[in-house]
Amino acid sequence: MVRQTVESRLEGKIRCDACPVMCYIADGRAGACDRYANEGGELVRLDPFTVLEAAKEDGRVVPFLDGDAGEWDGDILRSERPIITAIGAGTTYPDYKPAPFIVAQDHDGVDMVTVVTEGIFSYCGAKVKIDTDRFLGPEAAPVRVDGEAIGHVMTAEYGSQMLSLGGVHHLTGGSKKEGRVTCDALLRLCNREAVTMTIDGGSEVVLQAGQPPVVNGVEEHLMRVGCGSATIGMFAKQWHGLVDEVVVVDDHITGVLSEHQAGKLLDVPPTGIKVLGHKSTPGRYFRVAEPGTGWGGTNIEDPLTILGPWRDPARAGLRLLMVSTTGEQWGYYELDENRVPVKAELPSALKQSVDRIAENCEPSVASVLFMGGAGGSLRAGVTENPVRLTRSVRQAVTKVTCGGAECYVWPGGGITFMADVLDMPANAFGYVPTPALVAPIEFTLRLSDYAALGGHMGQVRRVEEIADQIERRIPRGR
Ligand code: SF4
Repeated sequence: MVRQTVESRLEGKIRCDACPVMCYIADGRAGACDRYANEGGELVRLDPFTVLEAAKEDGRVVPFLDGDAGEWDGDILRSERPIITAIGAGTTYPDYKPAPFIVAQDHDGVDMVTVVTEGIFSYCGAKVKIDTDRFLGPEAAPVRVDGEAIGHVMTAEYGSQMLSLGGVHHLTGGSKKEGRVTCDALLRLCNREAVTMTIDGGSEVVLQAGQPPVVNGVEEHLMRVGCGSATIGMFAKQWHGLVDEVVVVDDHITGVLSEHQAGKLLDVPPTGIKVLGHKSTPGRYFRVAEPGTGWGGTNIEDPLTILGPWRDPARAGLRLLMVSTTGEQWGYYELDENRVPVKAELPSALKQSVDRIAENCEPSVASVLFMGGAGGSLRAGVTENPVRLTRSVRQAVTKVTCGGAECYVWPGGGITFMADVLDMPANAFGYVPTPALVAPIEFTLRLSDYAALGGHMGQVRRVEEIADQIERRIPRGR
């Protein structure tokens, strides 16, 4: 529990000044965001200030304030040491005030400082990667929760569908309800809860970080092994001699063994197959069907619908395997006297190759990256000259983390970063009703560098001084 000082009082209530809402809070009650409360006339932060205790490779936890001695190896963050996070640290709004905790620690003779705050992110968002071939919706289609647009469908890449959620236009640029619903959906998603969304012209999806996506009520299991062409390349040798033709059905690139370069190298003879679709290069076809939730992300349930009449040298008895990119759907056929495929029992040797495709698919999960930016005022809580902080991050003098999680900092202007919510402790995120997400952010650098960039040196406290205010947690394993 972190204590704050407040000066403003009204009729026995105290005023919280940690965000622009400026709640008056009665004794024993919490403010609008449930993060701050009035406890006997004192404003307190309800969640504990958190330090992550690192686990060694052998599973031993590194005790807080008791790191191993030894030479500093140049690792600026000392990744094996306990990590001061901003979770529960509180917010100083507006940020002309120094950040709530500026904590110095000695690490093997190197004085380091970590500046932490729970930032109020009014323009933040989440990028979601959903491992599925199934058609979730057209590119750029709105993604909705409770009927409100909270983001849109992005590109599909390498067997995953991307969504872009939140951002300034949905959080603050639309109606009040749109902002509230967007903030609530982002909060739940970033805190690893399941969120149900609908996509215009597409599917209903239930997404939860680290869990399989549920598409139209069906839980996805496997992420495809590759596109149809890649699958032909990977398994051509295993099919050679067991079957005359293989078609790997895929909404992106459908592969045909006898025409594909892999088949040519194995001297697979032409079969007279006719695939209905746009031929790209030999053995690779685009748009054999419409996108959907059927075979290989197409809308088909019967794979024969993508084949035209067989031509010479097709012959009776020719053996055909059709399979999806996850190996979950397959069909085995033999041509009759009229060169029409007739379904037959899959030979056990071929069944092994189908199982091998499924075996090579990774589990399908939804991944959620929080995307935030350390804007001007947040940076002012770190240094009196905010642009120096930006430059220092650029020069890798300052390390940015989010709830202790590694961040990817985008090139270009500002400090715009992404972090995997699964790398943070549970419930690292909060909200304020402005609406905005509250997220932890930490800046770690050498104390001498902090002084050089105009840091708030008068507010630096040694970690030993605040030990009684800290809760120690072990980071969640994946
Ligand atoms: S919403 Fe929360 S942070 Fe903002 S003023 Fe109210 S209690 Fe304080």
